[in-house]
Amino acid sequence: MARYTGPVCRLCRRETAASKTGEKIKLFLKGDRCLTKKCAVERRGTAPGQKTQGKGRQKISEYGRQLREKQKMRRYYGVLERQFENYFQTASRKKGTTGTQFLQLLEQRLDNVVYRINLASSRAQARQLVTHRHFTVNGRRVNIPSYLVRPGDVVAVTESSQKSPLFQMLLDAAANRHAPAWLSYNEQEKAAKIERLPGREEIDTPVDEQLIVEYYSR
Ligand code: SF4
Repeated sequence: MARYTGPVCRLCRRETAASKTGEKIKLFLKGDRCLTKKCAVERRGTAPGQKTQGKGRQKISEYGRQLREKQKMRRYYGVLERQFENYFQTASRKKGTTGTQFLQLLEQRLDNVVYRINLASSRAQARQLVTHRHFTVNGRRVNIPSYLVRPGDVVAVTESSQKSPLFQMLLDAAANRHAPAWLSYNEQEKAAKIERLPGREEIDTPVDEQLIVEYYSR
């Protein structure tokens, strides 16, 4: 399946419209814009598409809820369907709670780590920066966004990239923000060490992963 290239705000509006509680769900796909009044969820939280506009919230079946939750999480991390299912299969073979293992795997992706250490304003930007070979893992250049980091790994900005105007801006912005506790970012070295895997309470992804486990266990 090809990557979605349409307007990403529609994806957020879809999830907000499907929310049972009417909660404004933001997937933070557009970086800093998501925090401004220009955010499409703030301006209008209706579902995209003319057919659903003005009809209010529609009833949704249990299967529909599971499906929406799965789509929400997949879009949040920007992962394609097949790869997303593969993560689930890997998580279900691991010891421990499948839902938590699933989230941990997604958090271990290199593009997610770059986003979490605030060197990109969105996962889409992080994915592009990784693809353009701006990062190393344990001293070796890695340009695969889905690369899974492990505890003890060190993710760093390459020396040549540190001098670029883009990275000087990104590094300045990162210095004023905090990375989650499972990642220790060293401002001097422009590098982050993966201290451990995150616990469920440290992952702020707005999903009910149990619904996704049920979706794949049908
Ligand atoms: Fe979602 Fe961000 Fe668009 Fe708002 S601006 S609708 S949070 S992608």
